[in-house]
Amino acid sequence: MKTNAMYTYTRSSKLFTAAKKVIPGGVNSPVRAFKSVGGSPIFIEKAEGAYLYDVDGNSYIDFIASWGPMILGHAHPEVINALTERARLGTSFGIPTEIETQIAELACSMVPNLDQIRFVNSGTEACMSAVRLARGYTGKEKIIKFSGCYHGHSDSFLIEAGSGAMTFGTPNSPGVTQGTAKDTLLARYNDLNNVAEIFHSNKGEIAAVIIEPVAGNMGCIPPVKGFMEGLRKLCDTHGALLIFDEVMTGFRLAPGGAQELLGINADIATYGKVIGGGLPVGAFGARKEIMSHLAPEGPVYQAGTLSGNPLAMSAGLATLSILNSRPELFSSLDSKTTYLKNHMEQELIGKGIPFQLNQLGSMMSLHFCDQEVVDFQTASLGNNPVFNAYFHGMLKRGVYLPPSAFESYFLNDAMTFEDLDRTIEVFREVIKEI
Ligand SMILES: *Cc1c(COP(=O)(O)O)cnc(C)c1O
Repeated sequence: MKTNAMYTYTRSSKLFTAAKKVIPGGVNSPVRAFKSVGGSPIFIEKAEGAYLYDVDGNSYIDFIASWGPMILGHAHPEVINALTERARLGTSFGIPTEIETQIAELACSMVPNLDQIRFVNSGTEACMSAVRLARGYTGKEKIIKFSGCYHGHSDSFLIEAGSGAMTFGTPNSPGVTQGTAKDTLLARYNDLNNVAEIFHSNKGEIAAVIIEPVAGNMGCIPPVKGFMEGLRKLCDTHGALLIFDEVMTGFRLAPGGAQELLGINADIATYGKVIGGGLPVGAFGARKEIMSHLAPEGPVYQAGTLSGNPLAMSAGLATLSILNSRPELFSSLDSKTTYLKNHMEQELIGKGIPFQLNQLGSMMSLHFCDQEVVDFQTASLGNNPVFNAYFHGMLKRGVYLPPSAFESYFLNDAMTFEDLDRTIEVFREVIKEI
């Protein structure tokens, strides 16, 4: 790959201009537009392993992994084989296929505390359906969500949602009705007393608490000691369900996701990203007693024309199978991320740049602020101009980072220590420039 080159983006710029004419903002998901960091987005031609290649012939070490899914690296041969073989058999029937049971069996065997799972097409759908199920199951209407946590773009969640929603300063999107908003109660991440107060003043009304068990949409914020245990207790005391949104953490932090890593049982868990191996897949699962409330067994309606799509399932199944057969992959990703974090820390110490590096497993983030980042308020203290200079400095030297301080880095298995050393070298140069 090219090193140290000052990249040019002629073709990307042209493509972006064309895209803006026919697609709002030129993108199909807002954060891709680089609005918060400035500049114009790069168009990708192809990707392989740890590298992205853009339409101008520039290459990048990829730290976003399609925002999480590409945990094995891009175009993994086993995933591509599974996809091409499956595609030849036809891509959608709207009639059951065996592969849906195969991936469900595998997912339920990898995740503790999961008897049944229902597949959908995105993380948004998974979270939206999980909340409906929790409401149907408990007969209650209100939910508690945490400021800075993102659970997809459905109405109930677009209230102080992290990352994309936050980057654009529209935490409360127009179009979300007052009626919907009043049933979503906002709590502070890592603040158990705050959650207890909300339960207290809404006695008997809370259907569920939904949370990212390790937050990744306000940068990476791990739960403080005792927080998840406390949430579990509060939910039990008040007859509310605990929903873990594992769309980011599922099959990434451990084979069994955050439930396994933190040793906490959720009542419902939602999935997305890794579970689809790069195709559009989401899922939610729980104990049978809860899942049996779903149609067609029970009265809570949920459906999807392309849900459990065999092509999507084949990428997911190939990815989960590899993760399941190589449990050491998770500790290897953890060591690589720890290595990167430690070296970045060394480069930053004594440079007069305030920073916070948060990390858990293969998720990490860098905030340019003094205060420890433990919740949405502290995550928002970061210095934006410094972040933007940092982002663009890395980008033009071939390191693709998330274009917002509210997003987590995701390492992938194809990344080598040489890639990380190269990244650290680039980081050193960029820090000098800031
Ligand atoms: C990405 C994400 C979602 C939404 O998933 P989509 O597939 O983008 O709809 C939900 N929750 C969390 C924690 C996420 O990171």
